[in-house]
Amino acid sequence: AISISKVSKWFGQHQVLKDISTEVRHGEAVVIIGPSGSGKSTLLRCVNFLEEFQQGEITIGNEAMGYRLDASGRRVRRSETEIAAMRAQVGMVFQSFNLFPHMSVLKNVALGPVRALSVPRREAEERAAALLDRVGLASKAGAMPRLLSGGQQQRVAIARALAMQPKAILFDEVTSALDPELVGEVLDVMRQLVQDGMTMIIVTHEMAFAKAFAHRVVFMADGEIVEQGPPEQIFDDPRSPRLQAFLKRFK
Ligand code: ATP
Ligand code: MG
Repeated sequence: AISISKVSKWFGQHQVLKDISTEVRHGEAVVIIGPSGSGKSTLLRCVNFLEEFQQGEITIGNEAMGYRLDASGRRVRRSETEIAAMRAQVGMVFQSFNLFPHMSVLKNVALGPVRALSVPRREAEERAAALLDRVGLASKAGAMPRLLSGGQQQRVAIARALAMQPKAILFDEVTSALDPELVGEVLDVMRQLVQDGMTMIIVTHEMAFAKAFAHRVVFMADGEIVEQGPPEQIFDDPRSPRLQAFLKRFK
């Protein structure tokens, strides 16, 4: 489980996260929606400690990211090594796939476990092949990334995140940069992950996906969680005027 508790973050004078609290249970897929600049990416980056935040707490399992508490309850900063180890428990997939261009698809997927988890190369490559099969790309294992379509590259990026055997995966608008005809194949892989019980936080503008497959939807605006609930409530019975106005854009 991921627990986000009273998180606030400022960039200089600008407060971009305002007292954010939510809990993502084991096996739960939570979709975050909201207008541009509402803090969605920043929140994901805080969960993975790619950004620091000034107030509140985020815990993965029972461990706080970034800090641990000493005997008197005071925060002690974790070392870079401790942070790296915690970060490895949470996968992240971005809009830009960021595959290593000079390595085959298989090696892209196998690299993390070899480097960070000390998995023997052969074993890592066997697992990578199985993961590529899971995302429908078994036949592309030997290809270089640039020969793949955007949708295929994004599926490799998802396989690469899975290879680290994370406790959860964060998705930040992973279909936004794709040609429309390639979006579906990536959403299909994500739908499969939801059905397999992967714990996921998904930032997306794909409202049909959220409506069909999210266990819970969180609506953010201006750094705050304005409303959250099951997709039926968020999409069919939105309570706040801001959410109602936001959803009109997708009609
Ligand atoms: P989008 O839908 O456009 O991706 P978002 O909801 O992901 O938007 P964020 O990228 O989290 O929004 O940005 C939230 C706010 O924080 C914005 O006002 C943005 O300008 C500001 N911001 C983000 N990163 C930085 C940074 N490194 N320095 C200063 N301000 C930043
Ligand atoms: Mg963003």
